[in-house]
Amino acid sequence: MPKPVQSRPFDRRQFLRLTAASALAAPLTGTGVARAASDDVDVIVIGAGVAGLAAARQLADLGYEVLVLEASDRIGGRLQTDWSLGAPFELGAGWIHRPDGNPVTPLVAAAGGEIFVTEDDSLMVLSADGKRYRDAEIFGKEAQLDALYARIDTTLDGDQPLAAAIARLAPETLTDPATRWMVSSYTEFDAGGPVDALSAAYFDEDETYDGADVIVLNGYDRMLGPLAAGLDIRLGHPVVSVDYEEDDGATVTANGRHFESDFVVCTCPLGVLQAGGISFDPPLPPQYRAAISRIGMGNVTKLALKFTGPFWPVDTQYFGLTGDPMGRWVSFLNYRTFSVQNILVGFSVGNYAAKAEAMSDAEMTADAMQALRAMFGAATPEPETVLATRWSRHDWSKGAYSYAKTGSTPADFDSLAEPVAGTLLLAGEHTLFDYHATVHGAYLSGLAAARRIEDDLA
Ligand SMILES: Cc1cc2nc3c(=O)[nH]c(=O)nc-3n(C[C@H](O)[C@H](O)[C@H](O)COP(=O)(O)OP(=O)(O)OC[C@H]3O[C@@H](n4cnc5c(N)ncnc54)[C@H](O)[C@@H]3O)c2cc1C
Repeated sequence: MPKPVQSRPFDRRQFLRLTAASALAAPLTGTGVARAASDDVDVIVIGAGVAGLAAARQLADLGYEVLVLEASDRIGGRLQTDWSLGAPFELGAGWIHRPDGNPVTPLVAAAGGEIFVTEDDSLMVLSADGKRYRDAEIFGKEAQLDALYARIDTTLDGDQPLAAAIARLAPETLTDPATRWMVSSYTEFDAGGPVDALSAAYFDEDETYDGADVIVLNGYDRMLGPLAAGLDIRLGHPVVSVDYEEDDGATVTANGRHFESDFVVCTCPLGVLQAGGISFDPPLPPQYRAAISRIGMGNVTKLALKFTGPFWPVDTQYFGLTGDPMGRWVSFLNYRTFSVQNILVGFSVGNYAAKAEAMSDAEMTADAMQALRAMFGAATPEPETVLATRWSRHDWSKGAYSYAKTGSTPADFDSLAEPVAGTLLLAGEHTLFDYHATVHGAYLSGLAAARRIEDDLA
């Protein structure tokens, strides 16, 4: 039975200020969280990914009544670890990028995460006919590409697609197999979008912390437990609408039920917002809608292949494959460097990510095996098990991570985090340009939304 919507008491915010002040004055014990008892709470958080959990954790610890509505049957969103292959396969985020100073590093450590530094330089790049590139050649071409990106930065006059900017200054970059592979394997993978759509002005203007990237040997998703502990999270609650009023709360509808709150933090991924997955009443202001349509939602397709034994050099971290078409199984991560399991994880990026995920598992496996056989020979055996990701076909993600698309600006990302009507806040990796497309960006955006609510009530 849907709960009837009741009109909200006018002085509720004032009451909240008082209760929040007393909660702040009182010492918090443990996680300091009580389960929200009703469907009428201080804050509703939409989405139990890292951004939503960070916001909910922070607000609950401050004594607010928080309800988290999550569409799927699990928490974590684009942070999801699968153990069915006997080693953690990270379907979404895999690395803590630049862990020194990264706010996710202490969260993973506190959750008992064991980290492993992946060696970017432990790389073997092969051509489509199985010839190995010399390391010196690869490092030399990397330096050329860095120099080209620096020239683009200093000579760019107005935004244009990165591919066009490259073609203007050094067209051979996209025809030489090795540099074209680098554009895919480094830039398209890192930025999330295809080179013909990435903004030449902003594709690499985001910020990083320090240190070499690491993976979490016992599963990245272990950081979710402490964030979620004690929160009232309703799984299987896809939110269909948010009706909000200027400084006067909101009604959120999921599964035909109406939930009320003073504030709403919506952490739905950019792809879900672009697809109109939630109806806002009143509609989001025009500048929000324009920013949402300008920013790009990118894609990366992963395929884990488990074999009965290794046919590759077990000490090499990554294998790269140059060749056509661009973005196709550009690199493989070798699990044998940190696990006893004979697993290679292949990555398709750029425009090829969508082509790969349109394939059935059997077709995708055949496609990746063709790549592996080009690298390691015709006798390369079939895998015993495979696991594929299809993030852009996922109802609650509709893409892998946001990217600076030609015509978008950093302000488009950041402006999304500004409160709407003093009641509704958007959060998630796509709302923080400096760290978009990352787990730490999602985490920081959730904390920022919580802080704005605290400030409003202070
Ligand atoms: C393939 C891939 C590789 C990546 N690699 C890395 C990496 O190596 N390192 C890194 O730092 N980051 C990486 N990322 C990015 C990182 O995973 C994301 O930036 C981050 O997890 C996003 O968190 P979020 O909370 O913003 O969104 P999400 O995790 O997507 O959370 C949003 C939540 O909202 C829910 N939801 C959606 N619609 C509704 C609705 N209508 N009602 C209720 N709930 C809804 C979703 O189910 C989801 O749980 C990767 C992502 C992908 C997909």
